[in-house]
Amino acid sequence: MPTSWNRLPQVRHARLIDWRDRDAALPVSATPVLAWGNGRSRGDVCLNDGGTLLLTGGMDRLIAFDRVSGVLECETGLTLGDALRFCMPQGWMLPVVPGTQFVTVGGAIANDVHGRNHHHAGNFGRHVLSIELARSTGERVRVGPDREPELFAATVGGLGLTGLMTHVRLQLVPVSNAFLLTENVAFRHLDEFWELDARLGSHWPYTVARIDGLARGSRLGRGVFLAGRHAPPQPAGVRLPLWRDASRSVPLDLPSWMLNRYSVRALNSMYRWVAGRRGRRLQHYQTALFPLDRVQDWNRLYGRSGFFSYQCVLPHASARDGIRTLLRRTAASGQGSFLATLKTFGELPSPGMLSFPRPGVTLALDFLNHGSRTQRLLSDLDDVVAGAGGALYPAKDARMSVTMFRRGFPQWERFAGFVDPAFSSTFWRRINP
Ligand SMILES: Cc1cc2nc3c(=O)[nH]c(=O)nc-3n(C[C@H](O)[C@H](O)[C@H](O)COP(=O)(O)OP(=O)(O)OC[C@H]3O[C@@H](n4cnc5c(N)ncnc54)[C@H](O)[C@@H]3O)c2cc1C
Repeated sequence: MPTSWNRLPQVRHARLIDWRDRDAALPVSATPVLAWGNGRSRGDVCLNDGGTLLLTGGMDRLIAFDRVSGVLECETGLTLGDALRFCMPQGWMLPVVPGTQFVTVGGAIANDVHGRNHHHAGNFGRHVLSIELARSTGERVRVGPDREPELFAATVGGLGLTGLMTHVRLQLVPVSNAFLLTENVAFRHLDEFWELDARLGSHWPYTVARIDGLARGSRLGRGVFLAGRHAPPQPAGVRLPLWRDASRSVPLDLPSWMLNRYSVRALNSMYRWVAGRRGRRLQHYQTALFPLDRVQDWNRLYGRSGFFSYQCVLPHASARDGIRTLLRRTAASGQGSFLATLKTFGELPSPGMLSFPRPGVTLALDFLNHGSRTQRLLSDLDDVVAGAGGALYPAKDARMSVTMFRRGFPQWERFAGFVDPAFSSTFWRRINP
């Protein structure tokens, strides 16, 4: 049964259709329709309770690739991992990747995902040249920055609600090899993070910090700053590190008591000790950019009742105070997650009406589902985010309020005019009661 990555909420779909043929007509359905890429969203944007899901994973063909210009044309069910395995050996890289390669191209566009290089390259949608969209009217519309630009802006970051994206053209970026030069720097508290971010952000195109969401007092916000850039061509004779796909998987749902403040604290400390001691080195792009993918099904660590993700962005003016307050409240609740993420977004504008990234600082946290206790904490965090003029990321949300959504995405009414009437999702019905 298709779910979201966090397995929250648990819903029932009326119909699942394996969608493989990009030219097929959309189904005539009495219930609302939604595409499901690979269910790596953390909440309900990929769910459609009582409705129909079009499972696009089988619509995954590479259509054309121009080795000179780096333009890739592919179907939208192709995963970013498969796209990379194809283009990397030819010296081309996807310009933006999120923290997992198990995301489809359609999912990456519908959530207009960002990566560690947001301050350098913006979000995924900036590199989309065109999209073919199947609408329930039977029309096929080719949209892009210069063609039907309004429908393009609604579709990029449009949460799958403007129709089914069948195939797309993407602009890739050239790279010399499959490696990144990376540098890890441990920091003791938030002030050190701001200092490192200002100093390293401008000349490292990939940056992110993993922080200990349970640290308090003078250690509040301590963590490890991870910086990277594509490795230059290596002189003849230099041996690049060997890379092999050694992923492990979590074979069963762990009992939820195993993830408690003591085990999470120990894991956070261990990570800081190990990752903080690794200075500069060459890493294969899969190890550097997708470390979580090395443990398949890690969502099972959170047990059967699933977990909440919480990702916000705060404008620069309120970010320092806001992030401090969010971390204080999280640590005081004792529900802090394993390895929270802190990152400064860049200034490059997002093309989508509902795109989440914007200039400011983003904090991402995960919380085991302790029912009302967790809900109360998250509402408390909402007050801080709203007070700071921030927004929550729909791709990682299963509970934001209507008010929170409308405040965070002021173009929502304009966007609503482009929603295909046959399409809907659990998320969309929740924030449009
Ligand atoms: C470990 C992990 C790390 C992550 N790191 C990041 C990160 O660093 N940055 C970030 O931005 N996100 C991150 N995410 C979130 C993830 O990148 C997004 O949720 C992404 O959209 C999931 O893609 P998917 O293919 O699984 O799509 P789904 O989750 O299945 O669907 C997502 C949305 O795309 C729509 N959709 C999918 N295919 C189509 C199509 N063909 N036509 C129309 N609509 C379509 C769906 O309807 C839905 O609204 C992470 C998630 C995980 C699990």
